[in-house]
Amino acid sequence: MAEDVYDRLGVKKLINAAGTYTIVGGSRMSPETLRTMGEAAGSFVDIRELQSRVHKRLAQITNNESALVVTGAAAGLYVLAAACVCLKLGRAFAHLSPSEVEQCEIIVFRAHRNPYDWSLRQLGIKLAEIGYPNMIQPTSARDLEQAMTPHTSAVFYTAMNQGWVAEGALSLRDTVAVAARRGIPVVVDGAAQLPPVSNLWAFNQMGAAATVFSGGKDLAGPQASGLITGSRRLLDAAKEIAFPNYGIGRMLKVGREEMVGLLSAVEQYVSMDHDDRTRWCRDQLEVLKTSFSDYRDVEVVDSYPNEAGQPIARAIVRFAHEGVSSDHVIERLRIGVPGIFAIAAGENGVFVNPMTLAPGEIEMIVQRLKDIFAELGVC
Ligand SMILES: *Cc1c(COP(=O)(O)O)cnc(C)c1O
Repeated sequence: MAEDVYDRLGVKKLINAAGTYTIVGGSRMSPETLRTMGEAAGSFVDIRELQSRVHKRLAQITNNESALVVTGAAAGLYVLAAACVCLKLGRAFAHLSPSEVEQCEIIVFRAHRNPYDWSLRQLGIKLAEIGYPNMIQPTSARDLEQAMTPHTSAVFYTAMNQGWVAEGALSLRDTVAVAARRGIPVVVDGAAQLPPVSNLWAFNQMGAAATVFSGGKDLAGPQASGLITGSRRLLDAAKEIAFPNYGIGRMLKVGREEMVGLLSAVEQYVSMDHDDRTRWCRDQLEVLKTSFSDYRDVEVVDSYPNEAGQPIARAIVRFAHEGVSSDHVIERLRIGVPGIFAIAAGENGVFVNPMTLAPGEIEMIVQRLKDIFAELGVC
């Protein structure tokens, strides 16, 4: 194979068997997306004019009133938190004093707390936590009602049913119903909630004011991009804060390449055959299953839905062998040739997620696993 930039830098390339993990690059842009970004890089344009066209088109194809391209889902939460404060206080963010901002509260379910909510806290806004992360005493609509104060600026909702999220929160439908009675916007973190493609509009049609998506996960847009979809009122406030305006949004610069790259990726995403893709993913797992069917110590089982609750099957390769742990296998996968990035499924298994694989890669994963099993005496 021809030498590429990673070879020249001496950086090890990895097959991503784990899914849309940002730590290895999230996802791969299509040739069409890359070509569009290259075209965008070649000319100067008026950024505001470009934004206006790109946002209008994104809103159209995602069935939303409004859309905004940001640098990532986390950045989207930050800009939306500020926008909710502006709507609450009725003034531009640049004119607010720190103490005015710090008085504002965003209600969050304890079951939904995760490291991405730094984006909400960053400006000094208080998080008002409600409920418990379990089903012994799930959060009630009354809990949410009682948590509302004159300073409540938004309700935050993590739309996941796996991974970061515990049980015990109110449903989004009930959350939106309570918030709507008080005129409080609900902001949804849907960063990794694609597929299904319908989530691009479903949470907002249910009544959320805005949802953030990562451009660099399943949308396969630029890694440093994010998409906010939602109501015109909240997104107009967010647009006043966001790049290219001076102020807090100026740190979150979005290049013209990212703007058109994300638009191109979303256009491809809404028009692709998702059933076909699901079938392709299943086929990859079939290859994995049949490859280990005659192993005594190895079992390949379906794991559904995947780590972020997406409706795409992944598999767990389980190995029952004294002294062989997930860590042993994962480390060998990582340091081998080709390097493979996988995550542990408990003490004696690894996940194989087909959603980030390219054609031919499942065969390489199978071969590496066979070599490692042979080395470790797993048969
Ligand atoms: C990945 C992720 C984010 C951050 O998305 P970026 O586009 O990388 O900023 C936020 N929230 C959740 C739940 C995520 O999974």
